[in-house]
Amino acid sequence: MIQGIFISLLNPVLALALSGLFLKLWSERKAQTHVLFFSVSYLCYAAAFGLQISRWPFGDPENALLSNLFLLGTFGSAIHGMMRRRRHPTPLAALTTLAVLGFAAQFWFAVIQPDMTGRIYAVNFCYGGMMLLAAAEMRSFPEKTAVERLLFGVVLTIGIYSFARTVGISLMQGHIAERSEYVGSLTWVVLNFSAALFALLLALTLIYLVVLDAMQDLRTESMTDLLSGLLNRRGFEENGRKALAHAGELGLPAALLICDIDHFKSVNDRFGHACGDQVITAFAHCLHDAAGGRHVVARIGGEEFAVVLSGTNLKAGRLFAEAVRNACATLKAAGLPENHAVTASFGVAEMQPGEDLTSLMRRADAALYDAKRRGRDRVRGAESRTDPSRRSAGDPALPLQAGG
Ligand code: GH3
Ligand code: MG
Ligand code: MG
Repeated sequence: MIQGIFISLLNPVLALALSGLFLKLWSERKAQTHVLFFSVSYLCYAAAFGLQISRWPFGDPENALLSNLFLLGTFGSAIHGMMRRRRHPTPLAALTTLAVLGFAAQFWFAVIQPDMTGRIYAVNFCYGGMMLLAAAEMRSFPEKTAVERLLFGVVLTIGIYSFARTVGISLMQGHIAERSEYVGSLTWVVLNFSAALFALLLALTLIYLVVLDAMQDLRTESMTDLLSGLLNRRGFEENGRKALAHAGELGLPAALLICDIDHFKSVNDRFGHACGDQVITAFAHCLHDAAGGRHVVARIGGEEFAVVLSGTNLKAGRLFAEAVRNACATLKAAGLPENHAVTASFGVAEMQPGEDLTSLMRRADAALYDAKRRGRDRVRGAESRTDPSRRSAGDPALPLQAGG
């Protein structure tokens, strides 16, 4: 008796706790609506199992039919949440067809031609089919992480297990005609324990995923400049280093561009700080559009920006800078008079063999300083690095590639 109550309560209590946990996780980051669907899924699950153990509000088979509706909500919500997280369309038509067929079959074996084994087959095959359908959709997700592959495995296992368990247990136990034969039977015990186990396994995998998503978002935020939406200095250093290393591995050239808006302090002084912010944002868009997603673009200081141009040599880097310089001449920003042209100065350096980001930035910065010194609103190419072999040989005649 005590054991029976414990087994009966296992699923609803566990599911309620998990639903509350997902609700809390969602309330911390409300934009993650898929987490809310996970919470709804476990709430439906608690209701479904709660209805199976209680005689309220009806009896059998009405409660069982109602319970099945909640279980359809359980699987539907979980699957929708998993699809939504990856912005993948939920296979609504196929899920609805399975749900209608499953419910109709359960209704048949509950009301028209009562048969407990038929009921068990109907509901379990329906949920198994829904999970296999979800697994099939998840297979097509591009670039799956390790935890997403784990989730795929859990969903697939639940799908296959729903079929295998139903057939296996009914072969072992034989035909069950009445519900009274079912409650407390081997099928009932196995179903309750395995349902709890899989509900927990799925929840743990989903929680793992939600936590990793949050950590990834925090990482992205820590590397993003709030005003411009570009990478900040930290993000630039991390991504810029990777881009240079990648170009080096492929034997491709790479260039670094650093630019700084001219006389920006006077924009702030004359038109206000808010207008200055608008100019920074508009300039950032200008750079971002020119880079077209191929390069690493960042705001590395107040009105200073940097771009790592992959697969680009000095000449092409200078052409890119000239294009940005021309585009920015027509830049518009709220509060900025039409006749006020925003100009910027640019320094460009091409990566030399074995050169790191710090050295490349130093050279591009020197070229930018040169552009400022020569009157601003211009592009300057950086001098090449001193040849270390010649320096060690004490050769004072260092080969300098002309800038300008
Ligand atoms: P130069 O042509 O030599 O670059 O002169 P500049 O006036 O652009 O440069 P300076 O370094 O003298 O001034 C930069 C100004 O940028 C000073 C600072 O108040 C302003 N600034 C830095 N960050 C922000 C920001 O986020 N928003 C706004 N509106 N202004 C900023
Ligand atoms: Mg400036
Ligand atoms: Mg500056």
